[in-house]
Amino acid sequence: MIQVKNLSYTYTKASEPAVTGLNFTVENGEIFGFLGPSGAGKSTTQKILIGLLKNYPGSVSILGKSLLDWNSDYYEHIGVSFEFPNHYLKLTALENLTYFGSLYKSKKHSPQDLLDLVGLNNDGKMLVSQYSKGMKTRLGVARSLLHNPDLLFMDEPTAGLDPVSSRRIRDLIRKQKEDGKTIFLTTHDMVTADELCDRVAFIVDGEIKLIGTPRDLKLQHGEPNVRVEYDDSRKTQREDFPLKDLGNNAGFLNLLKKHTIQTIHTLEATLEDVFIQATGRSLS
Ligand code: ADP
Ligand code: MG
Repeated sequence: MIQVKNLSYTYTKASEPAVTGLNFTVENGEIFGFLGPSGAGKSTTQKILIGLLKNYPGSVSILGKSLLDWNSDYYEHIGVSFEFPNHYLKLTALENLTYFGSLYKSKKHSPQDLLDLVGLNNDGKMLVSQYSKGMKTRLGVARSLLHNPDLLFMDEPTAGLDPVSSRRIRDLIRKQKEDGKTIFLTTHDMVTADELCDRVAFIVDGEIKLIGTPRDLKLQHGEPNVRVEYDDSRKTQREDFPLKDLGNNAGFLNLLKKHTIQTIHTLEATLEDVFIQATGRSLS
């Protein structure tokens, strides 16, 4: 779906490149997460992939051909939601969706259906100038789906959303994948990345440091221990055991026999732990 080779980008007047030497591919039907702290180069990368920024060293091939060979027809195939969406503030949400929908040759979803999908059911007749940041983000997500595109680019689609709205958007993204779509998801929210992404790329200071499935990354970097919490004279005690050869660990087996167990958990790293280990940086 997407092939990026040796991609770099330096903004005019900037002394440092915003991204350098990016190499990655995104497979058909996958949710690919681009995960990194603020200023890492995530939005810059998305802007290149959607054709907004040009004149870069390196190559980008999308949907089987070089980005350079695509004309405006490209936008019939991709859907984009921006970190800072550029809606018409003096129009209502429904008017915005109707207008942007009219730019596409193929229309699949009605504006009202899309508003329902992002939880703005009753806010369609409101002027977008009265929308909160989160409502604008959700309207942007609705807009990206107007023409039912095969490839979606979403820049921070859950940023600043309340838990219910965030859940709704995550469910929507998962549903898109179930429908066979490919999603390039840019985020600094590692919970969203962990939950949704088939693979994630860690990006820091314009460079990709690591790419893998969230599960593999966590297993490779996790502490392979089991933590047992148990009741001992009406007090909760806690003990850790190595996962390796656990079935022959006398201390562990003894504990199971002699005490009332309250919880048993493996200590996997969170994706954020892995990120910090791999990059030396935190996500915030
Ligand atoms: P992210 O989306 O990961 O937060 P960005 O891609 O927005 O990061 O930014 C990457 C780097 O490029 C940052 O250092 C940022 O200040 C810089 N940058 C972003 N947009 C511009 C611009 N229009 N002009 C100059 N520098 C920019
Ligand atoms: Mg950004």
